[in-house]
Amino acid sequence: MADALDRDILSISHRGEEFKSIYAETEMNLRQLLNIPDSHHVLFLSSATEAMERIIQNCVGDRSHHLVNGAFAQRFQTIARQLGKTTTTLTVPWGSGFDFDRLDVPADSELIAVTQNETSTGVALPETAIAEVRNKYPEPLLAVDIVSSVPFVELDYTRIDAAFFSVQKGFGLPAGLGVLIINGRCLEKSRRLQEQGISTGSYHCLEELVEKAGAYQNPETPNVLGIYLLGRVCRDLLKTGIATIRAETNRKADLLYRTISGNRSMAPFVAEARFRSPTVIVARTSVPSAGIIETLAKAGFKVGAGYGKYRGDQIRIANFPAHSPDQAAGLAAALADETGGSL
Ligand SMILES: *Cc1c(COP(=O)(O)O)cnc(C)c1O
Repeated sequence: MADALDRDILSISHRGEEFKSIYAETEMNLRQLLNIPDSHHVLFLSSATEAMERIIQNCVGDRSHHLVNGAFAQRFQTIARQLGKTTTTLTVPWGSGFDFDRLDVPADSELIAVTQNETSTGVALPETAIAEVRNKYPEPLLAVDIVSSVPFVELDYTRIDAAFFSVQKGFGLPAGLGVLIINGRCLEKSRRLQEQGISTGSYHCLEELVEKAGAYQNPETPNVLGIYLLGRVCRDLLKTGIATIRAETNRKADLLYRTISGNRSMAPFVAEARFRSPTVIVARTSVPSAGIIETLAKAGFKVGAGYGKYRGDQIRIANFPAHSPDQAAGLAAALADETGGSL
C-alpha cells in the first residue's frame, strides 16, 4: 500500500498506460499462480457475490442446479431465484459433504453451481469430486465458488467453465475486488441469451467485460488499488512457490485439526475427514464459544464465531497463506491450553 501511494496509483486514469500495465501484470501473476489456461478470461468485479449474479445472468436462461451445503451455496441459489430463474438443488445438512453417486442433475439444467469450500461450515469438496461432476455431466456449464480456498485449491480449470473468488480471504487483501474466471462456453451462452432477448445485465455483462479485458481495462472505473495489491501479493506468493504454500497450509491444518480433536471441549464439526477444509477449520464446542473466542483474543488470536445458527457453539479458524506456521503453532498451543485450563 505504501508503494501504491508512492507511485500515485490512487490518482492514475483507469484508461491510461500505467493502469493497463498494472492490470496486465496482475492478470499474468494470477494466471501463473493458479495455473489458469489461455482458454479462460480473467475478469475483475467488485465481489464474489457479484460474480454469482453475473454467472446466473449470463449463463442461465431458465434453469440452474445447485449443490447446497451451507450459507454461501444457498446464497448462489437465492440469487438465481431473485433473477427469476428456476432452481433445483441437492441439499445436505450443514457440515456434510455430498454423496456424488447420488447426484441427479435434471436434464434441462443449464448450469451446475458448486461451492468448493463452504466457509459457513468448513466443508471442502475434493478436487476429484468436482472432476466427477464434470465427467457425469459434460453438457451444463459448471461454476465453482473458490472464495475461501484460493490460492490453496488446485483446480484443473480446463474442466471448469467458471470459477470465482474475492480477495479478502485467502489473499489477505482489503475487500472490494472480485475475480471471475470464465471460458468461451460461458461467453457463447451469454451471447445466445442476448439473441433470445434475455437480459444479461448491462456494463458488467460478460461480453463487455471480456471486450475491455482484452485491452487490460474494465467497463467502469475499477478498484485500481485492489488490482495493484492483488498483483503484488501474487508476486510474493509466486516467490514462495505455490507448492510450498499448499504443503504449508496442509501442515498447519493437520496441526489445528489434531489439536481440536485432542481438546475435551471441542471436536471437528465436519464428521467425515475427507470433507474437512484445510483453509476454513470449524470446531463445535461443548461450552459457549464466546468464552473460547475471548480467551484466544487475550492470547492474541482472533478466531471467528460459528456461522448463523451455530454462532454460539462453534469457532471458525482461517488457515490462509498470510497465517504463518509459527502463528498456527501459537494458536494450537493456546487451544491446547483451553483443555488444561479453566475449561
Ligand atoms: C465470503 C464468501 C462469499 C462472498 O464473498 P463477497 O466478497 O462478500 O461477495 C462467497 N462464497 C464464499 C464461499 C465465501 O466464503
